[in-house]
Amino acid sequence: MAQHHFKTEVARLLDLIVHSLYSHKEIFIRELVSNSSDALDKLRYLTLSDEAFRGFAFEPGIRVVLDEGDKTLVVGDNGVGMDEKELEDNLGTIARSGTKRFLEKLPDEAKKDSNLIGQFGVGFYSVFMVADKVEVTSKRAGKELAFRWTSDGKGEYSIEPAERVGQGTEVRVHLNAEGIEYLKRWTTEPVIKKYSNHIAYPISLVSEEPDFDEKGEKKGTKRVDAVVNAATALWRRPKAEIKDEEYIEFYKSFAAEDEAPLHWIHTHAEGTIEYATLFYFPAKAPFDLYRADYKSGVKLYVKRVFITDDEKELLPVYLRFVRGVIDSEDLPLNVSREILQQNRVMTNIRSGSVKKILGELADMARLNPEKYASFIAQFNRPLKEGLYSDYPNRDILLGLVRFKSSSVEGWTGFADYKARMKEGQKAIYYIAGGPEDRLRKSPLLEMYRKEGIEILICDDEIDELVLSGLGPYEKIEIKSVNRSGSESELGTKKDEEAVGGDVTAAVEKAKKALGEAVKDVRLSRRLDESPACVVVDSDDPSLQFRELMKQLGGGELPDVKPILELNAAHPLVKRLAAAAEAEAEDLSRVLLGQALLVEGAPLADPADFAARLTRLLA
Ligand code: ADP
Repeated sequence: MAQHHFKTEVARLLDLIVHSLYSHKEIFIRELVSNSSDALDKLRYLTLSDEAFRGFAFEPGIRVVLDEGDKTLVVGDNGVGMDEKELEDNLGTIARSGTKRFLEKLPDEAKKDSNLIGQFGVGFYSVFMVADKVEVTSKRAGKELAFRWTSDGKGEYSIEPAERVGQGTEVRVHLNAEGIEYLKRWTTEPVIKKYSNHIAYPISLVSEEPDFDEKGEKKGTKRVDAVVNAATALWRRPKAEIKDEEYIEFYKSFAAEDEAPLHWIHTHAEGTIEYATLFYFPAKAPFDLYRADYKSGVKLYVKRVFITDDEKELLPVYLRFVRGVIDSEDLPLNVSREILQQNRVMTNIRSGSVKKILGELADMARLNPEKYASFIAQFNRPLKEGLYSDYPNRDILLGLVRFKSSSVEGWTGFADYKARMKEGQKAIYYIAGGPEDRLRKSPLLEMYRKEGIEILICDDEIDELVLSGLGPYEKIEIKSVNRSGSESELGTKKDEEAVGGDVTAAVEKAKKALGEAVKDVRLSRRLDESPACVVVDSDDPSLQFRELMKQLGGGELPDVKPILELNAAHPLVKRLAAAAEAEAEDLSRVLLGQALLVEGAPLADPADFAARLTRLLA
């Protein structure tokens, strides 16, 4: 029997694996099963492409056999197999792509971090975490002789002729103390399901299990031989063949959900980069949607082998409500998180997926408004997050977000708003910050309403943040009604001359009375029935926004003073214009105070406000 030495790199890698990967040792099963699956793929391909294998019939399958007596776990397949030279080349050297790249990419400090290493797949060698001896017996399809490769993983291996009926490979793992637990069905079966459920071939798990008689007493053991994986990757099947119920059933088991999904998108991308995706929109927002420690809903597979469900960047964060699968043909099995993030293949899959998801939503909004409304009721807010985090897709997201409106029931989008704009209307207007009810009643809306200008009612906390930095929609400015400047196209008839009388005196008196409490006092164009309102200067954060920042722990923003606007036509303002100094001060303070109150802004001195109000009423 010829003894061989591992190439130095292999020895290093073995050492590394054995000492660093124990917390992830179950992955050896994934690696062996995936190798078998590849071998079956290769043989199937040969029967289709190679004259010599034309008509070659075989029933592809993978068997995992547990033997407690021998302390062995065997993974067998009837795939393409290996001849003597292939055993030597594939298992004795490290010239193969995956493992070599793994070693090269790994910085020294990473080698000490078992967690980091655990995210890599390391191929066949991972078996030495749980074995003190491994025998690989293999017969290459179309060849006469079989060979056995044997190693204890400590630096040497041997290859000798062996017996085997039929093509394929058997990896016999002599489990060490670390691996002994995998002799138990209840340990190994879940591992196979977790990683290999969607391998295209049936995986049988064979073991001896206790047998009971009718009285429930143990009468011996029986051999259990059962297929334990689903053996189909739903997302790899042609769409036309899959029934809706199958999509729904898959979703329920995959996402552990009771309720059917709202919608799904199934895509096969072919061309330079080949991948399949199956994305679902849940009917209800996941409970952890707004938590920092939310769980990603997308699983990454490479050629049907499960890689990770713990990678939050497979899709952009704002699409974290999407559940589903990405299955790539082009990524290596042993892809790490670091590699994923800069990988060109992954970047392509990601941007293609985002386009697909947003495009599908746009279609839904157009073709099935009712369904889209249920979607919006759950996921409007994440889309708005996309507006400030995903600039390349800004235009399509602008078409997807929805708001309430002063003119119509239900949800409305920018496009609908634009279609309803008045002849000559210059901007899109919104009011934000506070509950819907209060926003709808705000005096700031009076004149817009009177002139038939629609206002978007933005009662979602995030609205102000998103809208204030949004820029124009199809060249139309988006303006907040509680900012000075937004009223320019309103009520020209409210100009001083039109009102008559010396109401400008009211402005002067209020300025004097209020002093540092306000930034300015002006006559208003936006008021119809109310005597006064407050707005903020065009570049200042709104009063509600400051409150929000404080609540969210964003700290105190620098003090911003409101601008007080007066309704020149209102009797109280006329009274102010004519009032003597003491009364003018009471009137000014009360007008400012009540204007702040209706906007939900706190009063600096409620007692002072109450005292002045009482005085005026008396
Ligand atoms: P990888 O699968 O990433 O290439 P491995 O170390 O797991 O790396 O396997 C090395 C090579 O050994 C494989 O590429 C394959 O050619 C060969 N091999 C491993 N297992 C089998 C098997 N069950 N049947 C046929 N060939 C195999």
